[in-house]
Amino acid sequence: MESPTIAQANDVITKTYKRFPLVLTRGYGSTLWDEDGKRYTDFLAGIAVCNLGHAHPKVVKALADQAGTLWHVSNLFYTVPQKDLAAWLTAHSFADRVFFCNSGAEANEAAIKLARKYYKEAGQSQRYRIISMEQSFHGRTMATLSATGQDKVKHGFDPLLDGFDFAPFDDIAAIRARIGPETCAVLLEPIQGEGGVRCPAPDFLKQVRTLCDEAGLLLIFDEIQTGMGRTGTLFAYEHFGVAPDIMTLAKALANGLPMGAMLASERVAAAFGPGAHASTFGGTPIVSAAALEVCRVMESDGIVDHCRRVSAHFRSRLEWLKQRHAQIVDVRGMGLLLGIRLSVDGEPFVLQCMQKGFLINCVQGSILRFVPPLVITVEEIDALITCLDEILGE
Ligand SMILES: *Cc1c(COP(=O)(O)O)cnc(C)c1O
Repeated sequence: MESPTIAQANDVITKTYKRFPLVLTRGYGSTLWDEDGKRYTDFLAGIAVCNLGHAHPKVVKALADQAGTLWHVSNLFYTVPQKDLAAWLTAHSFADRVFFCNSGAEANEAAIKLARKYYKEAGQSQRYRIISMEQSFHGRTMATLSATGQDKVKHGFDPLLDGFDFAPFDDIAAIRARIGPETCAVLLEPIQGEGGVRCPAPDFLKQVRTLCDEAGLLLIFDEIQTGMGRTGTLFAYEHFGVAPDIMTLAKALANGLPMGAMLASERVAAAFGPGAHASTFGGTPIVSAAALEVCRVMESDGIVDHCRRVSAHFRSRLEWLKQRHAQIVDVRGMGLLLGIRLSVDGEPFVLQCMQKGFLINCVQGSILRFVPPLVITVEEIDALITCLDEILGE
């Protein structure tokens, strides 16, 4: 019988999500429980959000302490948690300044606005167009949807915002060909997440950096999914030996509390003066305190090193599966942003995994994506591999 929660939810919530028939009630570490008490190992982490797993004791404590102290003032004032978080992020990245907001889409909105403002301030107001990648995903607001390279999510919302040109991901010649006198920036995800866990050729990002420098364009990395340790370095750009001018973060930044951030170098951030941009809730002390503790735990508990170690194991086990099952076309991804491409529809396998107590998802129809909490263990990975081996063999 269907859960009354599901029946009631389906009557009162917009139909925007195709949900699994599962009501989750509790989580700890990499484990989730449903309303019947059945347990699941979480290989989705709220889609690359809960990097430290669920109900991490240190984050819970930091949040509870801040909840009894100060939730919200306004960005008309300074607060210690916001200052400390910005200091941590700038100390650990290329960036000099941080603008806080509440979601990935908002972070990308800020990046798009900053890129345009930068060239206005520089006396080149003809430059406003941004080159974005096919199959990219940058959010669902009108501007970020306009920047997104997937027709299926854009359908029905015309007219979208003017000023975006698209090039195939991992194709430097195509990007070069799109550059015109009105171009101001190139926007891309170092690894495409929703687009199918797609990694570029090793030198692609370096080529894009060089191209941007030669053409006088800003380079924007959307690290909303790849950032905060997900790929085995704190930020994915570190793998490729390049730094952007602007980077956006969200998903894992506060481990599940809503927070986005746009980071930029001093030179570029200087274009945002008082009144240029704002967000009521951006960097509010309660969310900043949680995010700051997330950052500190990542560092003190060696989470990124752990991610790299278990990733190597996970990948080798996925390669082992590929040897055994002809439906697996390839193994892809970095760190704990991994996927296997199937020659068949992936959705049925997602449901079978769920029945066997493992939460995964499917992107682009045929790619099973694995984005567990970064604290996932080798034993939990091996259990998923056994499950996949069984269902792929059926
Ligand atoms: C999830 C995601 C977004 C959108 O983030 P929201 O918080 O849902 O607005 C943007 N870019 C990338 C790469 C993402 O993975």
